[in-house]
This record gives sequence, C-alpha cells and structure tokens, in this order.
Amino acid sequence: MVSRVIPVENFDLVIFGATGDLARRKILPGLFRRYCAGQIPEGSQIIGAARSDEGDEGFRKTVAEAIREFGSGSHCEDGTLDQFLECIHYERVDAMGEAGWQELKGRLRDNVIKAFYFSVAPSLFGALAERLRSFGLADDDSRVVVEKPFGHNLETARALNQTLAQHFDEHQIYRIDHYLGKETVQNLMAVRFGNMLFEPLWNAQYVDHIQITVAETVDVGGRGGYYDKSGAMRDMVQNHLMQLLCLIAMEPPARFEPDAVRDEKLKVIRALDPVDYHHIVRGQYGADENQPGYRAHVEDPRSRTESFVALKCHISNWRWAGTPFYLRTGKKLKARTSEIAVVFKDAPHSIFGTDAGQHRNVLVIRLQPNEGMTLDVTIKEPGPGGMRLLDVPLDMSFAEALGAEADEVPDAYERLIMDVIRGNQTLFMRGDEVEAAWAWTDPIIEGWQNRGEVPKPYEPGSSGPEDALMLMHRDGRKWREIKA
Ligand code: NAP
Repeated sequence: MVSRVIPVENFDLVIFGATGDLARRKILPGLFRRYCAGQIPEGSQIIGAARSDEGDEGFRKTVAEAIREFGSGSHCEDGTLDQFLECIHYERVDAMGEAGWQELKGRLRDNVIKAFYFSVAPSLFGALAERLRSFGLADDDSRVVVEKPFGHNLETARALNQTLAQHFDEHQIYRIDHYLGKETVQNLMAVRFGNMLFEPLWNAQYVDHIQITVAETVDVGGRGGYYDKSGAMRDMVQNHLMQLLCLIAMEPPARFEPDAVRDEKLKVIRALDPVDYHHIVRGQYGADENQPGYRAHVEDPRSRTESFVALKCHISNWRWAGTPFYLRTGKKLKARTSEIAVVFKDAPHSIFGTDAGQHRNVLVIRLQPNEGMTLDVTIKEPGPGGMRLLDVPLDMSFAEALGAEADEVPDAYERLIMDVIRGNQTLFMRGDEVEAAWAWTDPIIEGWQNRGEVPKPYEPGSSGPEDALMLMHRDGRKWREIKA
C-alpha cells in the first residue's frame, strides 16, 4: 500500500504557548514528522511565542530536545533535524500585555497562509484573538487553532464563541478535538459511507446496542488541580466520546465537506434524549497498597469529582429509536484502550438450536492501542462432532495492513495541523456543535450537584465500579472486557 504525501502551501505558523507541555510533547514533534515526510515546504516558518526569554537559538534547543524526547527518534542525527530547526523562530510575547506584538508582526510574511495555534490556558484565548487583530497580525484568511477545554459549561462556551467571533469568522476557527484526527476515526467514516455492506444494517432494526469505551490506566497525576474542577464528564464525555458517538450515529452527509459533515453531527447531538439519572454511574478510584487514591492527587480531600463515568443514552430519531448507546470512560482502569463496538442483533431464528443466542456479530473499531477493526462472525467449530458454533474475528490491524508504512501514518495532531494549513475544517468542531454538547452535558452535572451525589469508589486496575456493570446487566447485556 502506498500512502501519498501532498505538500501543503507555504505557511507561517505561530504557536502561542510554544514552551508548554502540549507544544513540546505533541505539536513540535508532530511538525517535525511532517517535515520529514516532505509535507512542509521549504521557507515555511514555525514561530514559537511565550513570555520566557528564549530567543531563536534557545528555542531551537528546546525544540530539538522535545523532538528527541517525544518524537519517533528517526532523522534526528542525519541532518534533517538541523534543516528543520532553520524554520524555527521565537518571539517573546505576553498574551495579556503589549510587549512583543510588533516584533512578532515583523516576522510574518505577506501572501502566505498564517495560522495561530493557541496552546495556552483558555483564559488567554480572548486576549490573543483581540491582539492578533488590533496589532494587525491576522487577516481575513488567517486561521486560529484553539485547544480544549472549550468552556466549562454552556454559558462559558457560548461566551468564548462570542469572544472569538468578535475577531474571527467561523471559517477561520479550528477547535481541536484530537480524537477526530485519529486514523481509525476517519476510517470509521470510510467504512460506513464507502461500503454498501454496512449501511443497510446500521440502524435500530439490526443493531442491538453500541458501546463506546475510552479507558486509561493513568491517574490524574500532575493534572489534579485542573481535573478536579472538571471530572470525566467534562474532560472526556462532552468532547471525545460525544464526537465518537456523532460519527457512529450520524446520517450520511451529502458530501465529505466540513459543513455537510458537521451539520449531520450536530443533528445527532440535538437528537440525544436527556439522560435519566438512574442510567449514569459515576466513580472515583480508591487507593491500593502501592498507590494513593484520587483524593490524594487533588487538593480537596473530600472531593466528589468523578474519575469514571458510565451512562446509557438514546438518540431520538428514525434510525436509532430504541437502540441504547452505552458510553464509558475512566482513569486508573485495567488497561488503556479506546474502542467502539457495534453489537448486532441475534439472527431471527436459529437453525442450530439452543446455542444460537450466544453468537452475535460485533464490529469493533479500535482507536488505541493497535488501531484497526475487527468483525466477529460466527462459524462452525472446525472438526468432527456435530455443529458447534464459534465466534472468530476478521481482524484488520492497520499496522499489519500498512506494513512499514504504518510508521508514516500521521498521528492525530500532525494531521490536524496540516488540515489547518489546508483550510479543511471537517475534523474540527464547529461552535454550535460544542454548545449543543454542553447543553446536553450541563443538566447531567447539575443533577449530580443538586442531589449531592458522591461517586462510587472503584479499585484501581479494575473495570470501574460494580454499578457500571449493573447498568448493562439490568438490560441483559454486558460490557466488552477492557483489555489492551
Ligand atoms: P502549559 O504546559 O502550562 O504551557 C502553557 C504555555 O503558555 C507556556 O508556554 C507558557 O509559557 C505560555 N503562557 C502562559 N501565560 C502566557 C502569557 N500571558 N502570554 C504568552 N504565553 C503564555 O500548558 P499545556 O499543558 O501545554 O496546555 C496548553 C493548552 O492545551 C491548554 O489549553 C490545555 O488545556 C490544552 N491541552 C493540553 C494538553 C496536554 O497534554 N498538555 C492536552 C489537551 C489540551 P510562559 O510561561 O513562558 O509564558
């Protein structure tokens, strides 16, 4: 299989917060990989901006270190990294002040694409947007990239949208949800809308239920301060899981174009029923003999923030009426895995007797680890001794299918940054989508607060609280095992 790399146009990319964690771990190593792949044309500029006094040389050192630490390790010693560093510049800029803006403007060129990546705290987004315009750095074709979290609730998300809208048109705003940049997520659209096979079965008549799991093994670690004000519902469900839900449930867009796709996703969110509080389980990981529990990782020793959520929801439309969607995410779980499982109904009549009910077709879309898809099909157990049935997976691992080229597949951040330069918003959230997601999430969180609900404790390294298992068992279903 040959993957084609199409170079983007010459650009100036300014990364605000270029000395921060996200820039060092993801953005800069990602840009280097695209450079190595030949996608970044000669002459393009990547300009870091933050308050620290790094200078061009100091920042190039920071970039080289970040690439060595967090990049794939290749092309660091063959001269390519040195060439890449020639594209790198730095300007000392204070988002809240006046210092550095004229100098930064002086670095930017006319007649090239200009993109501004806000890799800073969301409280700075408004100030940055305002100064980009008032100092004349941005024009009507410039793009701004904003990181999550996009608001804390509907009110703050709306305020943020309004602030950005004062300075930029919606077609210039790229709200990142890196889950949308994953290869498998896009493949999900290819499988659904590029094949005749699945679409006729993709509805309540044939699908028993859909499960979406995003499980992490890590604890809240150094992010405790932020996380405790957020929790799994805001940090994961409102954005990542909601986006996956949209892609799995949406109607086929007329074209694979940004607004056509985003219109369909929005319809899914708007068709979501409010969630009955009996259908949600919140959890918080406890301590084990080696590790302290959640409350030791955050400031508040009586914190009621959830590190785990499982819920059942329904989409009220013709396609999905009556089909439950089960969503689950949490920290400190058994394994790190993200997957969507479409569980089809039983065959209407078994010619093989009592054994039949235990066999179902399941299409699993794996986002991590080992991106790929499996389709469980029922076959006869090989050998003599009668007709015993067996479920076997038809397994498509992208790493295997692509061979050595799998290493060349861009990771989510790389792909999304290149899409920004190309001006393609398909894999970015639109303002109304984000607001609709908060409008669905807010009442759930308010309900917890009003009822003073305490999250159920769960053992680190488990599959979450017992009640989450019951959520499925009550419906005669069960979660897929969380395994790497
Ligand atoms: P971080 O490590 O705290 O870095 C913040 C950056 O902002 C630093 O470069 C800092 O440099 C700069 N900065 C702070 N105040 C500034 C100001 N007034 N003017 C100009 N620059 C300023 O944060 P991060 O983890 O990289 O996160 C950045 C954004 O990405 C946040 O919105 C976060 O929620 C989001 N995000 C992060 C991750 C992640 O894995 N880290 C994942 C998803 C989303 P100076 O102090 O030198 O100015």
